Amino acid sequence: MSLPKKRRTESAAAAAGGGDEEEEEEGGPGPGRAAEQGARDRLYYECYSDVSVHEEMIADRVRTDAYRLGILRNWASLRGKAVLDVGAGTGILSVFCAQAGARRVYAVEASDIWQQAREVVRLNGLEDRVQVLPGPVETVELPERVDAIVSEWMGYGLLHESMLASVLHARAKWLKEGGLLLPASAELFLAPVSDRTLEWRLGFWGEVKQRYGVDMSCLEGFATRCLMGHSEIVVQGLTGEEVLARPQRLAQLQLDRAGLEQELRAGVGGRFSCRCYGAAPMHGFALWFTVTFPGGDGEKPLVLSTSPFHPETHWKQALLYLDEPLPVEQDTDVSGEVTLSPSRDNPRHLRVLLRYKVGDREEKTKDFRMGD
Ligand code: SAH
Repeated sequence: MSLPKKRRTESAAAAAGGGDEEEEEEGGPGPGRAAEQGARDRLYYECYSDVSVHEEMIADRVRTDAYRLGILRNWASLRGKAVLDVGAGTGILSVFCAQAGARRVYAVEASDIWQQAREVVRLNGLEDRVQVLPGPVETVELPERVDAIVSEWMGYGLLHESMLASVLHARAKWLKEGGLLLPASAELFLAPVSDRTLEWRLGFWGEVKQRYGVDMSCLEGFATRCLMGHSEIVVQGLTGEEVLARPQRLAQLQLDRAGLEQELRAGVGGRFSCRCYGAAPMHGFALWFTVTFPGGDGEKPLVLSTSPFHPETHWKQALLYLDEPLPVEQDTDVSGEVTLSPSRDNPRHLRVLLRYKVGDREEKTKDFRMGD
């Protein structure tokens, strides 16, 4: 079974950009580096040229309904206004904006999927109001500044793909002073977890004897090394029962904040400290996020949550496994610090640096990256 490409970026990207024919500079920026980044971007956009990823996103009702309501509830601010959809994909959010009464929607999309967006716009009779513009938002030219920007930019663990940088670029270049951002903010959360599926898989080898009369329990250590002793971020859905302590809010990103671009480059995150609810094998930490749409006319803000306590989305949760399960008890202290930043070798790839301490055990660090 192949994994959907959505929100994962091609591992071949680095190879494509840093090929042998390329004159490479060590460190610092230069023409070689820019070409490398260009090649990576092309590979990144290619991931969005296939139907599957768009099917997965639009079939995610939690996501798509949140955007629909988040946009429609802001009709009073959108009516008669100009809107920029950053990364329009198949154009669904642009159509929502037109349905909310926008005068003009600029649907900017860098991957070839823009052709489908144009068809969707035509089928919905909106050619006079929604203009599909192919190309990266960084270079596209609009005929005017806009009153609002809508974008679905979130990747696994919130920041994988680094697409928020493009939204911030568009904000600086095209959004009127005090314009509306949909969503307007994001929050990042972390909690220690016990992963039941992983527990079952590790325990599996101890049960083989019962099934087939061959003792294979010696493989448990090997399974632990294979499944946990790596540095990849694992995207998997957990439930609230697998959360071992009160979730910690690591960061709040207000999208209109000055200097957010630099914050993202330097690394987003923070310290955490919590106490376990009860006895369990702790396997690691789960990361998840929410984004918030302003409520519009006196209404409450609308939150799109990817928490394990809420219905599952296609983002699931991003898991950071320890090297082996650690037994915790009620009130075991779990503390540390986590930093999310763009990976050095491919800035579109998420890197997570984790420092943690569980109970009286010694403090450890682990450096994770999003797997392909
Ligand atoms: N808005 C659509 C698609 C969201 S996925 C929906 O909600 O269904 C993100 C999309 O943004 C992808 O199609 C990707 O190709 C596009 N994208 C990412 N960075 C971009 C950029 N800098 N300029 C234009 N499009 C971009």
